[in-house]
This record gives sequence, C-alpha cells and structure tokens, in this order.
Amino acid sequence: MIPVTKTFFPPLEDYQEHLKRIWKNQWLTNRGKLVKELEANLKTELGVPNITLTTNGTLPIQIALKVLAKGGEVITTPFSYVATTSAIVWENCTPIFVDIHPEYLTIDETKIEAAITEKTTAILATHVFGNPCNLEEIERIAQKHGLKVIYDAAHCYGVKYKGESLFNYGDVSTCSFHATKLFHTGEGGAIFCQNKELNHKLFYSHNFGHNGPEDFHGVGINAKMSELQAAMGLSVLPYMEGILEARKEIVSFYDDHLDFTKVRKLKLREDTDWNYSYYPIIFETEQQLLKVQKKLNEQEIFPRRYFYPSLNTLNYTGKSKMVHSESISSRILCLPLYKDLDISHLIKILEIF
Ligand SMILES: *Cc1c(COP(=O)(O)O)cnc(C)c1O
Repeated sequence: MIPVTKTFFPPLEDYQEHLKRIWKNQWLTNRGKLVKELEANLKTELGVPNITLTTNGTLPIQIALKVLAKGGEVITTPFSYVATTSAIVWENCTPIFVDIHPEYLTIDETKIEAAITEKTTAILATHVFGNPCNLEEIERIAQKHGLKVIYDAAHCYGVKYKGESLFNYGDVSTCSFHATKLFHTGEGGAIFCQNKELNHKLFYSHNFGHNGPEDFHGVGINAKMSELQAAMGLSVLPYMEGILEARKEIVSFYDDHLDFTKVRKLKLREDTDWNYSYYPIIFETEQQLLKVQKKLNEQEIFPRRYFYPSLNTLNYTGKSKMVHSESISSRILCLPLYKDLDISHLIKILEIF
C-alpha cells in the first residue's frame, strides 16, 4: 500500500534515550526540561525569536483568535484544512470567506478590502501547502484598516520567504506538529509571535492564564505540550535535513516525469525556499481526477483530496459562493510524498497517468 504520507519514525533507541531522561527527571509536563530544550533547538533551527510549544496545531489558532479577533468577523480562506474555519466558529467569531488565487491557492489579497466591515477584527490566512500568502499586501491592508493578522502556517516548517522563516510574519503564526506533518511530535504545535508583549499574552493564555502558582494574568486554556511529545520532537529533529533532502528528490522526480499538458502544479510564490511538504496536482475536471484516483486506488495507491470540500460549503458557515476555491477543491489531488517513497513506487504511480 502506498499512502499519501507516512509518519517518520525515528530510531526507537533515540526515543528511548529521551524517555530515560524523562524518567530520571520524574517530570511529565508543565514546561519540563525536554519542552524547553525542544523550544531552544527549534528557535535556532528556524531562526525565530519566540516560540511556545503546544499540544496540537489547532489550539494555537484558537488562542490567537481569542486574544486578537475578540468575537468579530474574521476574513479567511476557504481553501485550507477544516481547522482554520472551525477554530473561527469555535471562538464565536464569524468567518468571512474571500476567494483564493487560482494559481497560488492562497487567499486572493486583491479581494480582501471589499470584505472588510466595521465588525472585522482580523485576517486568518493559510500558507497552504507551505506556499506563502502575499505577505506584503496583507500587511498593508491590515495596517490601513487596523486589523490583526494571524497566519495558519501548519504546513510551513522550514519554509523561508526572502531568506527569513515564514513563521516571522503576521502578528501571530501557528504551526502543527501532527504526525502527518513534515516535522512532528506525534500531536503537537507551536505559536510564533515577534512582539514581546503579545507573545507573553499568548504564552500565559496557553497555560490557564498562570503567572506563578497563585496569580493569574487573565483567562487561559490548557494547550501545553507534554514531555512525552517533546521527546518525540527531539528524536525527529536531527533527521529533518535528510527528510527534506529525500522529499526534494521525490518532488523533482514528479516534476520531471508528470505530463503537464494534462495536469498543472502549484505555483510557488517568488522568493520562497519551499519545504516540499505536499505534491498537489490540479486536473482540468473533477471527472479526470476521479478516474485517476480510482485507477491509483486499484493499485493500492492512496492519494488524498487535500483540500476538499471548499470550507465555505460547510453546513455551519452560512452561504457564500467561492468560484475558484470550489473549482480547485473539486480538481486537486495530493500525490504520495514521504521519505521512504522509492523510485519503484514512483514509477508505479506515474505509469497510471
Ligand atoms: C493540520 C492542520 C491544522 C491542525 O493541526 P492539528 O495539529 O492537527 O491540530 C490546522 N490547519 C491546517 C492548515 C492544517 O493542515
């Protein structure tokens, strides 16, 4: 069976070494040594000034919305994983969808201003497949209208834009370290924030609002990463370079051998050092996609329809028509991409096209 992705398992001995440290410390959560160590390593690795590790990649979005969007209207993309939209609704904010750019697949910044009302408080956009949104233009619009910018950067581990970590853009960026993501801690995630004061607020919000054992800064939730999750992260981290290298080769192979008269690929934004996180291809019609998907499935190859359906069509988001997002969602398929996918697998996949 060839799945769309396969979780990277570090050598068991590596993981056991970190577990031994946990047993020795007799400390499982509440910012133990391993969480702090993983934070320090990631800061260096990624080149970010601040990071707060969390228990998954959804709570950081909710915390950012709670602190910055304050129950208002949130301008967002319909082309993302469902967590982007569900977090908005869960936080009692209203998602206002703005269609996507048909090639970059990120929110179409030229349509944002028309969607702003008196109730708009924030923009929550996804750098989908690790492809940056138009950061400069979104920043300009946000400044002009006094809006906060939150980036769902769940797919962006290792991505650089103009030589700098993509996590360093927006008021807040969030990431997911779920087992299916590029870098993982089993379940996990992170909050990135440049501003010291805001970062502090997000930090205490992720730990019940605690400021010491008996003092509270304000309302908070529990989104803390545990030592067990950090142990996985510390075990995976040393292998990231090799993982990225292997993925790069697979992406080149697809690039060299797919027939781009029949399908097209994602257009990456200029000045981006990408992370080879996904290999989406866009068919001309949904029928063509379904035909290829069926043929692949018959050979035990399971690509995924990331991201389908378009989020503006969810039954809890009200009615809106997003022409590009609905069209792309119905025609886009992510091909298998993971470290151990070898040439024979790739040939088998490509033969079917
Ligand atoms: C995976 C993902 C999330 C959610 O992250 P979890 O760690 O699974 O909670 C949010 N947004 C996007 C775009 C994702 O792909």
